[in-house]
Amino acid sequence: MESATGERIEANRSRRLIELAERFGAHNYHPLDVVIERGEGIWVWDADGRKYVDCLSAYSALNQGHCHPAIIQALVEQSRHLTLTSRAFHNAEMGPFLEELCDYVGMEMALPMNTGAEAVETAIKTVRKWGYTYKGVPDDKAEIIVCEGNFHGRTTTIVGFSSDTQYQEGFGPFTPGFTIIPYGDAEALRKAITPHTVGFLVEPIQGEGGVMVPPAGYLRETKQICETQRVLFVADEIQTAFGRTGRRLCCDHEDVAPDVIILGKALGGGVYPVSAVCASREILGVFRPGDHGSTFGGNPLAAAVARAALRVLREERLAERAAELGPYFMEQLRAIESPVVEQVRGKGLLVGVVIKEEAGPARPFCEALREEGILAKETHGQVIRFAPPLVIGREEIDWILARVRKVLPQ
Ligand SMILES: *Cc1c(COP(=O)(O)O)cnc(C)c1O
Repeated sequence: MESATGERIEANRSRRLIELAERFGAHNYHPLDVVIERGEGIWVWDADGRKYVDCLSAYSALNQGHCHPAIIQALVEQSRHLTLTSRAFHNAEMGPFLEELCDYVGMEMALPMNTGAEAVETAIKTVRKWGYTYKGVPDDKAEIIVCEGNFHGRTTTIVGFSSDTQYQEGFGPFTPGFTIIPYGDAEALRKAITPHTVGFLVEPIQGEGGVMVPPAGYLRETKQICETQRVLFVADEIQTAFGRTGRRLCCDHEDVAPDVIILGKALGGGVYPVSAVCASREILGVFRPGDHGSTFGGNPLAAAVARAALRVLREERLAERAAELGPYFMEQLRAIESPVVEQVRGKGLLVGVVIKEEAGPARPFCEALREEGILAKETHGQVIRFAPPLVIGREEIDWILARVRKVLPQ
């Protein structure tokens, strides 16, 4: 049997592997029916030999593409001589990694963790402690303002301030100290700030929320409000940083310098979980030995991988590539003029195609795309997210477009 993209299809291995995962794994995900076995750049192959373009990039953790040779080389070399020390000792990779990361984001200090949710938790602890230390907020009274439709991870504290009931149901009680305001509404922030507010935690584009792009000027205006009220502006750039939206950070589009930047995903080059919180010396200076930590945070393998991941972003000018190809991709998607499409929105190569309610949910379209050799995942019911690895070229964008045209009725 031959697949649409011409590979020989072995047998029905995928089916068997899915059954195993379903039987032995908790059902906390609803993946598409595809078992990926190999990846290279923007391409992946399933267990039956079919080839696809990865248009999700592990929620933008794979900006540098699958198995980037330079990142794999760093992983292999580092793993031969040292992988883990814990923070009880120094390791030779961590210092250079933190210096290069601070240089990349233009910050004075960084605190390394592993997953995005851990970095968000770290940022929450940071701004609370900053509020008690510098703003004179009374003990246990610190408030953090967050936005409706947010996604910051899955720990109990973080889902406690989600506005999505599915993220919360059955997991309470939750951590107090969070106020939810509408996203994209700067006035709502101004009104919500109290003398106890220590931070405003915001995604510059809400990726999981359905690629929600706030109105132009929103980031600049909210940053300004935070400055005048002495509230820390905390940007969760876990999904939007590292070139995804066509700039180094998404906040760069409005020349906004956050007080605290939360990073993850592509910091590990799609190879290893690496996250970090970056801020000024005053802000991250609130931590004293013993206040916070992680056994694996800042480990030498993570540090070596992240250094390579940052080098690839620079050397291959991936932000510039997203800035060039993103607008072309969106323009071509809009030109399809399908009656089922309500809107095409996004920035750089973080693009959402919104399916009209009356055309049903986005999922069947993702399944049809999969049949055509494109892996994309719906988010929030109606949105197909297109976020291919940034190592993609124009011809490959055209390859995707030709197939999207087949799937979206015109
Ligand atoms: C993915 C994501 C997180 C959580 O990261 P994990 O590594 O899955 O814990 C937090 N914030 C944003 C904006 C994300 O996209």
